[in-house]
Amino acid sequence: MSNCARMAATKKVAALKAEMPCAPEGVKEIGYAEDVFTRETMREYLSKDTWKKLMQTIDNGQPLDPSIAGEVAHAMRHWAMDRGATHYTHWFLPLTGSTAEKHDSFLELKDGEPVMAFSGKNLIVGEPDASSFPSGGIRSTFEARGYTAWDPTSPAFIKRHGNGATLCIPTAFCAYTGEALDKKTPLLRSMQALSAATKRLMHCFGKGDEKVTITLGPEQEYFLIDKAFYLQRPDLVMTGRTLFGAPSAKHQQLEDHYFGTIKMRILNFMNEVEKELWRLGIPAKTRHNEVAPAQFELAPMFEELNLSCDHNMLVMEVLRQVADRNGLVCLLHEKPFAGINGSGKHNNWSVAYGGVNLLNPGSDPHQNAIFLTTLCAVIEAVDKHADLIRASVATAGNDHRLGANEAPPAVMSIYLGDQLADVISQLEKGAPKSSKHAGTMKIGVDTLPSLPKDATDRNRTSPFAFTGNKFEFRAPGSSASCSAPNVVLNTVVAEAMNRIAGELEKAGVVGKAKPGEHTASFHNALQKILQDIVKSHKRIIFNGDGYKADWLAEAAKRGLPNTPTTPEALKAYTRKENVAVFEKAGVFSARELESRYEIAMEDYTAKVLIEANCALDMVKTMVLPAVRQEYREAISAYNETDASNVKCAIDVLHDEVVRLASGLTATTDSVARLEDAVRNADPEAAIVEMSTLRKEVDALERQVADEKWPLPKYREMLFVY
Ligand code: ADP
Ligand code: MG
Repeated sequence: MSNCARMAATKKVAALKAEMPCAPEGVKEIGYAEDVFTRETMREYLSKDTWKKLMQTIDNGQPLDPSIAGEVAHAMRHWAMDRGATHYTHWFLPLTGSTAEKHDSFLELKDGEPVMAFSGKNLIVGEPDASSFPSGGIRSTFEARGYTAWDPTSPAFIKRHGNGATLCIPTAFCAYTGEALDKKTPLLRSMQALSAATKRLMHCFGKGDEKVTITLGPEQEYFLIDKAFYLQRPDLVMTGRTLFGAPSAKHQQLEDHYFGTIKMRILNFMNEVEKELWRLGIPAKTRHNEVAPAQFELAPMFEELNLSCDHNMLVMEVLRQVADRNGLVCLLHEKPFAGINGSGKHNNWSVAYGGVNLLNPGSDPHQNAIFLTTLCAVIEAVDKHADLIRASVATAGNDHRLGANEAPPAVMSIYLGDQLADVISQLEKGAPKSSKHAGTMKIGVDTLPSLPKDATDRNRTSPFAFTGNKFEFRAPGSSASCSAPNVVLNTVVAEAMNRIAGELEKAGVVGKAKPGEHTASFHNALQKILQDIVKSHKRIIFNGDGYKADWLAEAAKRGLPNTPTTPEALKAYTRKENVAVFEKAGVFSARELESRYEIAMEDYTAKVLIEANCALDMVKTMVLPAVRQEYREAISAYNETDASNVKCAIDVLHDEVVRLASGLTATTDSVARLEDAVRNADPEAAIVEMSTLRKEVDALERQVADEKWPLPKYREMLFVY
């Protein structure tokens, strides 16, 4: 029966492909940001005064004037209803890792008469019963209610579905006490910390007050497989990854998928995704086939960090939904298939001041000095807090990816490229008096050699690479929210910037020259600070191949932390000195941090045990019955041959019975051990045993007749779509 289902699935895919339109649709209005309550739309729907006040809140982070909330809510409802919306929801990012929404209709009864209404109060706060969201113990000691608070810096948008639409209002989610229960609140706090630190540092450089913009461009990797196969794989349905599956003969050895011609069915899917994203004001830009078969990437243009994080959550949602509509399933798990590449989310991050990117090497000595200072701040921050940066991407799924020779290792290091590494080493050697001609860099006097973008971005094996005008953190997992890594990055870079600014202020060299100019003493002091940073933290810089085993030995010699598993990595959140960093920056209280640690640990254990239970279920009810059937047939063949006069190949038949019997025994033994691990709720033992069980099952997959095997195979899932 299962065999029939598999054959049917293959036929179905073929039929689907035949039906697909293959001619382009023609250029249509793309309707960019049509479903977003943008500045321009607000201007249309709001009075001039209210619009101006709201813009001030959005642009300068000024508190919202409560007197305008009513008018904004009214305008928002009108705009949403003009687009067919009947409901609204506070859209938030709880600690489950996905998004949450509870819809209310605009409908109200006034003296028994139905009216559509939406008040300022309903816009600004919501009080969802939040007792079932993870809080890591924060909420239970107070009350069950959670509060959602409007985040006016991320615009409201409309989500459409078959026969209606809902107004979505991005919000932060807190407990009664104000403690954060979501991923947005700490992100906003960390942005505030980095903004303040950047301003302080820029003031040292004689700059006036400007707006700090932290930017993010998250590249999203994903897999697509046909839904017919997916539905026959309980592991994919339950856990998002295949717990079994022998490698197909061809997988990614030829590397012919990367940047290959995109299949028509996939291209149609991508177009549909992008049109939907554009309507939501999400600037999807790049699409291509990735290295593994059936793996793809979508990259948007970078945006302001908070918005970009919200947008990435929507990107994942749209990918899943459009896939579903197209008879496909989008797998966002970090490692859906063993033996081929997993999926990550490259986190391209930078900071701009007054619209000027601080990580852009400038062409004049002054801009260079700012660039090198920012660069050194990042170097110091990443070296000092490599453990936190690693912890920020630690999940059960990502453990399968980091260090698996196709993704950066679990050891954090920074790639600068040869030219920039050379500049940094000149900086280290340079005495304040010497100049570049002696092979050293003089801050404030010398300009940097021009750094062609190409030269900085050839190394794909580094977890944290400088790529011309931004840092690309490559360790985040494909399914994770962008929040955690950026919360950590902002916080630790803010700490380093504050320290540098503090040193400059202490040296008494700040504010001694006209804006834009600097005294020699300023530059000498800065040079000394940056030299010290390079001396103390250069161990984090590594320009070699991060996939090589000898790097791990070298990293150990340098004293860089290496924590390949989530439970080890997460310990970073419990270290006293780290807690102090977050507290000082006002990003997390000790209690908030502790709650996050607990939630992350619980999530890890739960996910591993779900996998173990799923594996047991599949082996006992699908794999073993198929193997037993094969075994019975092998015995019959042996017995029949033995009873005949010919007895040809009797030894071969005997060996086959023995092979199947030993596979059957080993699998059954492994099942018993895995059951023990589950009974003891021991994730570590479960992981070890699941890997043993997988080896046995994958070996059996190669012995049992294809028609009897109950699960779609890698060669089908990864190539038939
Ligand atoms: P590559 O594909 O080689 O990694 P791209 O130049 O295509 O590099 O950029 C990848 C991502 O980095 C894109 O999302 C892009 O918008 C983003 N990006 C570019 N500049 C910045 C920046 N200043 N800050 C944040 N992200 C950026
Ligand atoms: Mg990139």
